[in-house]
Amino acid sequence: MRFLSLATTLDAVSKTTKRKEKISLVARLLKEAELSEVCEAALFLAGRFFPENDQRTLNVSWSGLIGALHNVIDFRDDEFSKFYEGDTGEAIAALMESKAHTRQSVLFQEPLTVESVSDRFTKIALAAGKGSMKEKQSLISALLGEAAPREMRYIVALILNDMRTGLSHGLLVECIAEAFSVDIEYVRRAWYFTGDLGGVAHLAAEYGNRGLKQVNIKPMTAVKPMLASPVSDLKSALEIGQGGELSFEMKFDGARVQIHKEGGNTRIFSRGLNDVTESLPDIVQEVNKRVRASRFILDGEVVAVDPTGKPYPFQVVMQRFGRTRDVETTNQEVKLLLYAFDILLLNGQMLIDEPYWKRREQLESTLPDSMIAERVVTNRLRVAEDFFLRSKEIGHEGLVAKMVSSPYVPGVRGKHWLKIKHTLDTMDLVIIAAEWGHGRRSKWLSDYHLAVLDEETDKYTMVGKTFKGLTDVEFQAMTDRLQRIELSRSRGLVRVKPEIIVEVLAAEIQESPKYESGLALRFARITGIRDDKKPEDATTLKELQATFDVQFRYKAR
Ligand code: AMP
Repeated sequence: MRFLSLATTLDAVSKTTKRKEKISLVARLLKEAELSEVCEAALFLAGRFFPENDQRTLNVSWSGLIGALHNVIDFRDDEFSKFYEGDTGEAIAALMESKAHTRQSVLFQEPLTVESVSDRFTKIALAAGKGSMKEKQSLISALLGEAAPREMRYIVALILNDMRTGLSHGLLVECIAEAFSVDIEYVRRAWYFTGDLGGVAHLAAEYGNRGLKQVNIKPMTAVKPMLASPVSDLKSALEIGQGGELSFEMKFDGARVQIHKEGGNTRIFSRGLNDVTESLPDIVQEVNKRVRASRFILDGEVVAVDPTGKPYPFQVVMQRFGRTRDVETTNQEVKLLLYAFDILLLNGQMLIDEPYWKRREQLESTLPDSMIAERVVTNRLRVAEDFFLRSKEIGHEGLVAKMVSSPYVPGVRGKHWLKIKHTLDTMDLVIIAAEWGHGRRSKWLSDYHLAVLDEETDKYTMVGKTFKGLTDVEFQAMTDRLQRIELSRSRGLVRVKPEIIVEVLAAEIQESPKYESGLALRFARITGIRDDKKPEDATTLKELQATFDVQFRYKAR
């Protein structure tokens, strides 16, 4: 399939706001693709070139990309700025159109195909070590040199991870179902089980419902974790439970882990499906020593504690993730503990469709008590309140209330699990831009533009700004990081790829005409950098609207 067909379809998808139309446009394209390219086409449509569970990245910065473009066409920075209206891909396409006459003829070149673009991306990702930046840049120059302007728009968007087509992963699930006449639920389930939409599209195209139904969780393939919905208090949780008993578990302020074991091999995956085994040798050792089974998938939280056993805030655990050197020395200062709270598979037994209480039984028969989340099962408010207080005294974050008959639903934030925190609930917001600070902060990008995810449009929409909450060292690190993911700059403002998630606490949410979202945060401050979360995990506009409404439970509107 020509890459241009994909670009043309994405152009049409961007132009319509109608869900149905988007689905039929994309479904038509997927149907037209050869079986051998369905996987790549679906990934490109999702704005990716590798599946979510694939650790490879291109590692190309905005300035690296602009440098590569300079090898293809002659332009001055102010010419680029003239075309820039917030989207680098569009600006480059427009710049290219305007330079068409000066560009060397590409007439005799083979047109780009989905397959050839995918091969190029793999080569760019594989370039590593000394001199690799130059190699990556020349591969990108070659690719851009062969692309038509509309193709360029999407190649750039893929490189920068900034698609802006309004085609979310959730919508793509529906497109795949429509294209290959398969059940949406089977597509979604297969995606959550494997974290690979491309592979799922391929399976749907080749084997239909039958193939999708056979997808199951298996050790060493990380599953998207089940998530909890926020509720304001214990009473609301009990109301949702409709008088039945709920299992109230400690809510640990650590990092989510999924632990897989098979054939003597133990691997740990993060919430974002990254393999973090090498950073957590102590947890691997504990699991190997103390878990009484040889094949399983566990779900839980890793918590850092001080020598007296008191939990450290979440940030301390995160320092260990992604770190493989000096792990031994860090161990002595900070001890990591595992608290498992679910089991998805045990020996030959698939457990995700079993009710919570049955999975918990299996967990208790497989792990020692000290490795399992403490809980109480009750439908009485007083009992839950006592336990909530206890979680505060121990230094944990609150409780998670779980419906005892619920299955494990990967990837879903539903009403089966409800989280109740001691503090005002924080939000997970994406930094979409930053400004250079004033005075003492003038050397740092320190005023952050914060956004929620608007699921309707699949775009990040601004809800506030803050310069509060980071230390000087963190400001410096954040400045370096933001510059590496820069999308454009104008005056004091640097727009960045929506990649970094920060946990934010606000005093209030207000209605505001200032932002397109219609809402604005008052007195926002950053309470943590959530490197374990991905932009798609950000608080959604709908959730923020719900929190806005909750404010009026006790306040006049
Ligand atoms: P949040 O990060 O605020 O969305 O809260 C949900 C997270 O709480 C989950 O993704 C887990 O990492 C964490 N968590 C801590 N304790 C538990 C528990 N007992 N059950 C489920 N999730 C928990």
